[in-house]
Amino acid sequence: MRVVETCAEMMALCKEARRPLGLVPTMGALHDGHLSLTRQARADNATMAVSIFVNPTQFGPNEDFATYPRTMERDLELLEAQGTDLVFAPLPPEVYPEGFDTYIEPGEVAEGMEGAARPGHFRGVATVVAKLFTITRPDRAYFGQKDGQQVAVIRKMNADLNLGVDVVTMPTIRDPDGLAMSSRNAYLTEEERTAAPVVYRALCAAESLRRAGERDGGKLRTAALDVLHGEPLVSRVDYVSVVDAETMEWVGISPVERRLMIAAAVRLGSVRLIDNVVVG
Ligand code: AMP
Repeated sequence: MRVVETCAEMMALCKEARRPLGLVPTMGALHDGHLSLTRQARADNATMAVSIFVNPTQFGPNEDFATYPRTMERDLELLEAQGTDLVFAPLPPEVYPEGFDTYIEPGEVAEGMEGAARPGHFRGVATVVAKLFTITRPDRAYFGQKDGQQVAVIRKMNADLNLGVDVVTMPTIRDPDGLAMSSRNAYLTEEERTAAPVVYRALCAAESLRRAGERDGGKLRTAALDVLHGEPLVSRVDYVSVVDAETMEWVGISPVERRLMIAAAVRLGSVRLIDNVVVG
């Protein structure tokens, strides 16, 4: 396993790497969700590359960039055990040198939900993923459904800009009680951790209603909200949204065959959790 810190060296190594090359972009603090992506990338490709980069441009000024968990040594051990060939772990000035001034601006797909709650977030995500795609020129790139809108933004960018990458979406990995794994779960107090599965329970309530034939997105949303409002530790619901699973457009009345994503962002104390389910 080679650990590389500069764009130039990563580019050179990827150019001569055996193909196909699979890329797994991450921000580190790896858990079983990340490892499900690397496992699939390992199985599908001759070369497996993983990036570990806490990307400053996707964090807002009042977000947790400075305190985001960083566990590089342990991450490298896990990646070595997974048979990773290349780890790209640059520091921010390597990715954004002085004078950096070109960004990717995603369109409507990035407007609602996370895009509305975190202005500039997807501009940062799209820019860094475009850079990672350009540096590594992957045949395939792996993303988790956990960040459902992020996958939609990347798929749209990949199509609109003819980047030619096979974007693979992997299912959300959960703890046994339903909580979607996330590096940010480490911020939860014991009490909050006990309450946290309420997010998935809320989404499941909406999902079962849909499976029972409910056509009205508003009613699905209310069903999820009712569950969330029953948990006193939920300090705020940023959103519950019922959207088209591909375009992220808000969906009102729709036939049950239409693929919907039901997504939520919820605060438990000061910790912000996101999750979603896809139905149809
Ligand atoms: P992050 O390090 O949070 O940027 O995540 C890196 C990749 O892992 C993204 O594509 C995430 O969607 C994916 N990921 C994070 N958590 C999970 C999870 N619980 N299940 C599946 N994929 C995940």
